[in-house]
Amino acid sequence: MKKYSIGIDLGGTKILIALVDKSSGEVIGVIKKKTKKEKGPTKIIKKLLEGIKELLDTFQINLNNISSIGIGAAGQIDRNNGIILGAPNLDCFDFKIKEILSEHFSIPIYLGNDLEVAAIGEQKFGAGKNSSDFVCIFVGTGVGSCIVKNGNIMYGNTGTAGEIGHMIVDLNGRPCTCGAHGCLEAYASRSAIETRIEGALKKGRSSCISEYLEEGKSITSGMIKKSIDRNDELVLQCVNEASEYLSGGIASIVNIINPELIILGGGLIDAVDYFYNETVKKARLKSLPIPAKTIKFHKAELGDYSGVIGAAFLEDRIL
Ligand SMILES: [Zn+2]
Repeated sequence: MKKYSIGIDLGGTKILIALVDKSSGEVIGVIKKKTKKEKGPTKIIKKLLEGIKELLDTFQINLNNISSIGIGAAGQIDRNNGIILGAPNLDCFDFKIKEILSEHFSIPIYLGNDLEVAAIGEQKFGAGKNSSDFVCIFVGTGVGSCIVKNGNIMYGNTGTAGEIGHMIVDLNGRPCTCGAHGCLEAYASRSAIETRIEGALKKGRSSCISEYLEEGKSITSGMIKKSIDRNDELVLQCVNEASEYLSGGIASIVNIINPELIILGGGLIDAVDYFYNETVKKARLKSLPIPAKTIKFHKAELGDYSGVIGAAFLEDRIL
């Protein structure tokens, strides 16, 4: 086995490209590229090529010492052919990412879903280490999940299982990036909270979050945390609303799947303890009494790196 693998987390706001030690799961180095405003296949490929080159140059590693490149992408994917079928948060549709990257790198390339790689990372080295029966739910630009049953990832018939973010929670609700209305992620994601806060500020509501905002820049999880620490009424209201929806979605998962453990992660969960604690408390209350008694909740333990670590192990595929 070669010592290193490259793990890539292709998300709605950033791309993380990491050099991972296959024996320990340690992230040796990471390159970060923003995707917030620059999306679409051409721009993403450009950033990936730049980032991989930068990583290899910085750490003086030759491609011969890398066993594979694994990519976790936020969207629906075709694993066998390495195609991103639909990723609205990346503005990519029918994107033959493996084929294009294969023209530049002569090593195996694997594609997975972003939550699938997060679940692989968390099970190998994080909060899922002692469990073979859990659901990973990550809250960021969207809301995603991956179901692990008997140690195996549940892919579903078309390989797209686990899209908790597109669970419809309001029949006549807000539009979602997927084209439907009333999806959970239009209410419970960091982007949804951001939209609610910005809308209220435009209507004249005041909030201490304005002190942290910079022209043209978006609201971050860190800003949300600072505002909650200051007991800001508007931010608390928007976060409580998101938590109300997210806990409802989680309770539905608990009732349908009846897992042993729910692992919650992503930028917002990571940064805002209040959001995590409220969501867990409400999710337990909303679940059916029998599963509610035993269901365990843990925060993801690998932070920003669960995706890149898991992606580096996509080549092994077996959890
Ligand atoms: Zn949707």
